[in-house]
Amino acid sequence: MQKPRLPTAKKRLGQNFLTNNAIIEKIVRAIKPQAEDNMLEIGPGLGAMTNALLPHLNQLKAVEIDTDLIPELVSHCEYRDRLTVYNEDALAFNLGRVLVEGSKLRVVGNLPYNISTPLLFHLMRFVDDLRDGHFMLQKEVVDRIVAKPGSKDYGRLSVMLQYYCAVEKLFIVTPGAFTPRPKVDSAILRLVPRQNRELSAQKERELEHLVKQAFSQRRKTLRNNLKGCISPGQWESTGIDPARRAETLTVDEFIILVQNA
Ligand code: SAM
Repeated sequence: MQKPRLPTAKKRLGQNFLTNNAIIEKIVRAIKPQAEDNMLEIGPGLGAMTNALLPHLNQLKAVEIDTDLIPELVSHCEYRDRLTVYNEDALAFNLGRVLVEGSKLRVVGNLPYNISTPLLFHLMRFVDDLRDGHFMLQKEVVDRIVAKPGSKDYGRLSVMLQYYCAVEKLFIVTPGAFTPRPKVDSAILRLVPRQNRELSAQKERELEHLVKQAFSQRRKTLRNNLKGCISPGQWESTGIDPARRAETLTVDEFIILVQNA
């Protein structure tokens, strides 16, 4: 089938279209799509990944905000009868609408970089319904997500995503793989939700708040940043020195903090 004509990319929608077939195939190999998978693609654009995934799948759902792209996407799609496109904002998309009994959702996407962090947090609202996620993001964001305590990249994004998921940086993609070329390197991230998370739903909300507070001023101590969350008397039962900085705490230590808060 003829390739779609590349339109003028909309910067505000983070449109950098993948045009390197070898990279597209490499991403698809990492995803390992299986016919029966229940899969959702975020931001299919003109279908670079969509068209590489569809031959492997019985069906694929996709959320695309740009109404102008959808006719091009669909008309150039060889397996369009397997594709359902929701012309909606992924940030507000209720994943409950695409869940299928007995088959956890797989989410994939070359994400619009300007909304990648809020989008990942939005997806975490549905983490119990997810089997895995494979995303192209700015390399710098992936480095932050997989960062270990003590590194300069370690922060709120690392702690929260590592609490919800096992995170893995798979490989780097250079700007030449896209049209138009982005200014920075990208990387592929794999997320696999952790089974048996330690906290209740209520405590998870508290963890999100506490971690945000803990990193609100990176140079300050936990005692300072967490004044509103942990009282002086509560510190002792945590066994954690309040003179430490948030960037030195492991995810498990953040869990201990919220369990004692
Ligand atoms: N998947 C295509 C590819 O790899 O060539 C396009 C990737 S491009 C980086 C990001 C895509 O996400 C664009 O098609 C853009 O229109 C779409 N997009 C941007 N913001 C969105 C949002 N809030 N909800 C859904 N799609 C969005």
